Amino acid sequence: MTAKVLTRLDFKLPKELIEYEAKAVRTHLGESVIRFETDQTLVYMTSRSKFDSFLAEKAVEAGAELKDKKPVRSVEATGTHVEVKTSDGDFRSKMLIGADGMGGQTARTGGFYASWKPDQVAYAIESEVYVGEKGIRDFVGDGSYLDLYFGVSSAGYGWVFPKNDHLTVGVGCRLSRLHDGQDLLKGFTKRVQGLETFDIPKPDAHLIPLGGAAKIPAARERMLLAGDCAGFAEPLLGEGIYFSILGGQIAADVAAEACFRERFDRRFLSDYERRCWRAFVADFDVAYRIACLSYLEQYDMDRISHFFFENKQFQDCMVGLMEGSLRYRDVRAKLAWPYFKYRLARLGFPLSS
Ligand SMILES: Cc1cc2nc3c(=O)[nH]c(=O)nc-3n(C[C@H](O)[C@H](O)[C@H](O)COP(=O)(O)OP(=O)(O)OC[C@H]3O[C@@H](n4cnc5c(N)ncnc54)[C@H](O)[C@@H]3O)c2cc1C
Repeated sequence: MTAKVLTRLDFKLPKELIEYEAKAVRTHLGESVIRFETDQTLVYMTSRSKFDSFLAEKAVEAGAELKDKKPVRSVEATGTHVEVKTSDGDFRSKMLIGADGMGGQTARTGGFYASWKPDQVAYAIESEVYVGEKGIRDFVGDGSYLDLYFGVSSAGYGWVFPKNDHLTVGVGCRLSRLHDGQDLLKGFTKRVQGLETFDIPKPDAHLIPLGGAAKIPAARERMLLAGDCAGFAEPLLGEGIYFSILGGQIAADVAAEACFRERFDRRFLSDYERRCWRAFVADFDVAYRIACLSYLEQYDMDRISHFFFENKQFQDCMVGLMEGSLRYRDVRAKLAWPYFKYRLARLGFPLSS
């Protein structure tokens, strides 16, 4: 998770949850590798199952009642309440916040229009490659790097994230460009130097909605959607944890207000969509357009490295986006000039960065 995630939590994460702190990024573009280093943590690596369990514990500490292993089958809003049917009984409440991921039952059975086109969804496949602690040190080298690989998949990228004793190795692409997920990962791992001698265990694959593109409604009478089921993942790099947490917090505020005022109508609850738009969905639109420009045209590695990844202003923008001091709408203006020069250079004008 990027450093800005911690700014949304009003408690500290236990040390044992943080398996690695990346302060530097290695960007691989074809044969070239561009490094940039900082003196601050940009990304905290954690294991999702432990992180999610910890968040659930904190919710219980704050008074929530956790009912686990009761898959929701359907949800329905009536004039007086929401009815949730699970494999182990039914529940009623005044309001419901659905956060059951992409393709979850809340959006599907709750009457939300939630259909995604294949070019509005990312396919991501990753494997946890055990390399041992020495293997991590060998792979990472001197700095505390994470690695991103561009040009390894059509309309997507690859990543290698170090953890305690294993590397999370993954690659994503637009679902519309997917041929064979296993082949995509196999092809990617062959291109990553340093993985040759390790077994690549069975991967997991999931979909990520490229938020902002589809804009499915996130509020209906008595119901709100948060996280992936609302499409709240950033469309350029597929970051979703931060936006799930932020959207969830806004949803909680709006739900509390609705209960206080006894207003559960769509008109009142649509304030949630407006607040999410102002907080982050507006940035998804910008990120989606950048993604279309960066991924859908033929990669021009040399010029992209030269005008962007080696450019100090671009690197500062990456840091700002990760730590949360910049949003995509701020970055757009900052990168307009390097982008303009890049386009001119592609047309044949002899320009330096
Ligand atoms: C391979 C991959 C790598 C990624 N890497 C990153 C990353 O490094 N950083 C980042 O920020 N984002 C990353 N993302 C995106 C991120 O994982 C998601 O955006 C984020 O997890 C969304 O959170 P969520 O709570 O909305 O949904 P989820 O994390 O999908 O959680 C949904 C929850 O709902 C539960 N659920 C589903 N159906 C039901 C049901 N019927 N009844 C009861 N419970 C149900 C599920 O069990 C699950 O616990 C990645 C995504 C993928 C696919």
